[in-house]
Amino acid sequence: MSEGRDPVSGKIFILSGPSGSGKTTLYQKLLANRAIRGRLAKTISVTTRLKRPGERHGRDYFFVQRGVFLRKKRAGQFLESEEIFGSYYGTLRKQVQDFLRAGRHVLLTIDVKGARAVCRQFPQVVRIFVKAPSLQILKDRLEERGSDANAAVVDRLQRAHLELKEARHYDYLVVNDDLKKAVGRLTGIVLKEMGARDTP
Ligand code: ADP
Ligand code: 5GP
Repeated sequence: MSEGRDPVSGKIFILSGPSGSGKTTLYQKLLANRAIRGRLAKTISVTTRLKRPGERHGRDYFFVQRGVFLRKKRAGQFLESEEIFGSYYGTLRKQVQDFLRAGRHVLLTIDVKGARAVCRQFPQVVRIFVKAPSLQILKDRLEERGSDANAAVVDRLQRAHLELKEARHYDYLVVNDDLKKAVGRLTGIVLKEMGARDTP
């Protein structure tokens, strides 16, 4: 179709990276760009983790009880789901399908395992890995964010090693050192990949 409106013409952008690397900060800045926001829709995952101060149900996540999550999982509602830091997280299949059918590109911010599961199901995936400049800076940012207990920060740093090992399988790497530069790089990647869709 000339306007790229068939169900499979949209791309799925996956943003992964250790907790605290800056995925949320970056995608919020990315979507502040109107030209991008009109064409790229971010999915809202379902999670059983507790809401952090400032987070809103339906905007940041759908926060649900374990039983509700497991029922959705059994009903096949998730495109992928993982247990991370003792909580469940899942991407709703219908959200992704609806966005693609509406002719939009889709943005998922999910962990490296979930990313692999999505890649097995869709060919049109663009994987972007976000990295803090160093583990020390990652630790400082997690502590400064102040949203997790000390033990949770330790868990997140431990898991960062596992996530970082997967970075080489990604299509792009964004080192989130200077925020403005990182947003610029991410925006450039997304615009380039969106343009590629329309190239005959
Ligand atoms: P993630 O979504 O990957 O867990 P966040 O976007 O919540 O990470 O970022 C973690 C913390 O680091 C937040 O407090 C955020 O304000 C801060 N942060 C993000 N990017 C930068 C940056 N480039 N420089 C300094 N602090 C940053
Ligand atoms: P946080 O609790 O910091 O918001 O997220 C913890 C981790 O879960 C991050 O790596 C984040 O990308 C990942 N995550 C968030 N939503 C999903 C999801 O729907 N599926 C998967 N697999 N990971 C997710």
